[in-house]
Amino acid sequence: MITREEQKEARQLAARMIREAGLQITEEEVETIEVVDFGLGNLRAEGVEVFTMVSTDRLAAKVLVLFPDQTEPEHWHPRVGDDPGKQETIRHIWGDLRFYVDGPDTLQDGFIVPGKGDVYTLRHEIILEPGDQLTFEPYEKHWFQAGRRGAVLYSFSTTVRDAQDGFSDPQIRRITVVKDRE
Ligand code: ZN
Repeated sequence: MITREEQKEARQLAARMIREAGLQITEEEVETIEVVDFGLGNLRAEGVEVFTMVSTDRLAAKVLVLFPDQTEPEHWHPRVGDDPGKQETIRHIWGDLRFYVDGPDTLQDGFIVPGKGDVYTLRHEIILEPGDQLTFEPYEKHWFQAGRRGAVLYSFSTTVRDAQDGFSDPQIRRITVVKDRE
């Protein structure tokens, strides 16, 4: 759960970072930025800000923002009915970004969210530089984290069915509840 104020503040900060990264976003579009706390109620630690440029029943293009030290929890994109699952390419644009995928433990620059060692199982660290990109096939687990400056990245994918994503953390609720008052 996030409050309306928290959502507004997060949208403004995300928009500043998107512009800092050299991208354009209109004031109307700022109001569409999805502020996601994954139902964990600790946005600055675990969350993501999502600006959807296009999303159809075949493709999607988004800009993702992570605030400084913010982590997007470990997840994967499963098959949904006839859809074999989301294939996703991310491309780093600006800031400090690291991804965690299957492989030997090389975690060094990043950190496991305190107290959450059991739901962040991947420890193979990939440090991205602006212009680097990665592609994930359906079911390929991943999580990612910003460093000190935060991060802005593109996500290009087949159809988005965020509500169907799988998460290692059973506490997660993908659809964020926004409350008008505490
Ligand atoms: Zn993903």
